Amino acid sequence: MFRFEILKTDPLTKARAGLLHTPHGTIETPVFMPVGTLGSVKGMTQQMLEDLGARIILGNTYHLYIRPGHELIRNLGGLHKFMSWDRSILTDSGGFQVFSLSKLRKNDEQGVTFRSHLDGSQHFFSPESTVLIQNALGSDIQMQLDECTPYPVSHETARTSMQLSARWAERAKHEWLKTPANPSTLFPIVQGSMFPDLRRESAERLVDLDLPGYAIGGLSVGEPRPLTFDMVAATEPHLPTEKPRYVMGVGSPEEIPEYVALGVDMMDCVLPTRNARNGMLFTSQGRMHIGNARYATDPRPPDEKCACPVCRRYSRAYLRHLYQTGELLASILNTIHNLFFYLEGMREIRRAILTEEFSGYLQANRRAMQDAAVADGDG
Ligand SMILES: [Zn+2]
Repeated sequence: MFRFEILKTDPLTKARAGLLHTPHGTIETPVFMPVGTLGSVKGMTQQMLEDLGARIILGNTYHLYIRPGHELIRNLGGLHKFMSWDRSILTDSGGFQVFSLSKLRKNDEQGVTFRSHLDGSQHFFSPESTVLIQNALGSDIQMQLDECTPYPVSHETARTSMQLSARWAERAKHEWLKTPANPSTLFPIVQGSMFPDLRRESAERLVDLDLPGYAIGGLSVGEPRPLTFDMVAATEPHLPTEKPRYVMGVGSPEEIPEYVALGVDMMDCVLPTRNARNGMLFTSQGRMHIGNARYATDPRPPDEKCACPVCRRYSRAYLRHLYQTGELLASILNTIHNLFFYLEGMREIRRAILTEEFSGYLQANRRAMQDAAVADGDG
């Protein structure tokens, strides 16, 4: 049911264009996955997401386990049916949320005991239980439970943590294999903080498990961005070429082509949706805060080069008015534009790879982003 096909590899970088076949349809890669933590991409209806061309979205195991509960979702036919989304879903294991949100967390070899961030009730996640929860959700791609190493940490701490995550990956695989012909596939997560030798060791241990795809985690946790790129570059050569690579929690529009150039096939990030709700739009000219007074009488679309339904119909002045008055529609329209900007950007990258124009695209992107950074100064 799950198969990855590489259609074209860029001759000058590690970028590739492919097809990811899942039980809920085929996804063109590289792909950006909108984040729908609680079974909803905030501000978007499922119809809007389909219209924007999203083929896969994220759900979150921790949040859905807390509310409404995975058994309730299982009884209602799984997450796809529950939220009326026929396309693919990837669920994060919830490790990151347990470590960042929950109170009184205690982890040991067996798993992690934590208190809900909502009512303080006590819960336990193990590598096995998070597979069972994700089986109940019925996600197309599930993630192993991992320990999220904070930044910065010592080499020794990072090594101990990475090895625990690797043992958890093995246990997750064992549990995952217990469901015959499990329609949900499992990705382990490469850890190792900011140490190339640990990233390598982690990747090698996980590759031994021979799973259908690999995630690179523990990045975008406060480290300088060049270090993030270095860690992806240090990990990539140790992952199998023929399997998809997913870098978790990245990136900004100017960074995405850089990850693609490093051989990354899948990414997710809350930036387009979260920033939209805060009035920040990503445009071909850089970032724009729509609440700015200078847009009050501006009849132009938010981004004159954007073909999204918002830019085709509405003015900066109107969007600014909606934002200033706290209208719900402000969040909705801003999110449509930002998601389109991300999804269309990725489609452009993919076209460039297929036509062997990616290196030129990458260079142009670097120049444009430098110019935008300069223009940003007055935004
Ligand atoms: Zn637009």
